[in-house]
Amino acid sequence: MAEKFIKNHEFNFIKKQVGVIKNSLKTGADKNVKNAVKDSADAKITELFADADAERRALLDLSHCSKDEDYDQYINTLGEYVQPFPQVSEQQIKKMFPKNKKLKMPRLEELDLSRTTYLSWNDIGSNKKFLLFELDGRLAGVECKYTLLSRDNVCSFCCRHGQVAFISAVTKAKKSNNPDYYKAIGNYICSDSSECNKKITNTDYLTSYIEDVLREK
Ligand SMILES: [Zn+2]
Repeated sequence: MAEKFIKNHEFNFIKKQVGVIKNSLKTGADKNVKNAVKDSADAKITELFADADAERRALLDLSHCSKDEDYDQYINTLGEYVQPFPQVSEQQIKKMFPKNKKLKMPRLEELDLSRTTYLSWNDIGSNKKFLLFELDGRLAGVECKYTLLSRDNVCSFCCRHGQVAFISAVTKAKKSNNPDYYKAIGNYICSDSSECNKKITNTDYLTSYIEDVLREK
């Protein structure tokens, strides 16, 4: 078996494309239209994995699929190649949040790391949310204040419309002439992080958000 080469958000992207094809199969559109939808989805997947070698390209190829069952099988097979979120220990997490002396730990043994782009847990007592994300091959952690909102909105990370929380993180940036200066960055994100992890298809925003919070200047 080829090594696991698909990131969770890429897997979501493939699932989304396959969803578009499967929807087109349900319509009464003629064969040419359906083929065009399939070709377009295929091209998007190929583009996402432009560097794939022959073995990976063969796995990603969906030209043999024609029925719903074929596509389900295709997704199931690719599911075996999704990289899990890296294992993380309590010590590692404590190191990422050195200033938080009463750090609330996630229940590590209960976390599902298999379909996870970012790991998140809440400290309800202090209205804090913690995010872990792999940045340049290393785990980075961000601590935010969070407020659940009663109105639905669009999540900044996965672009899904639904129940969101407002998160606000204080950046590490300091102004040398003003030690009290601080800058907070706010965002709406899904209140349910496991749903968010099932929907996220692109990590550009999440990456730049974490980078902005951790940047020291
Ligand atoms: Zn989301």
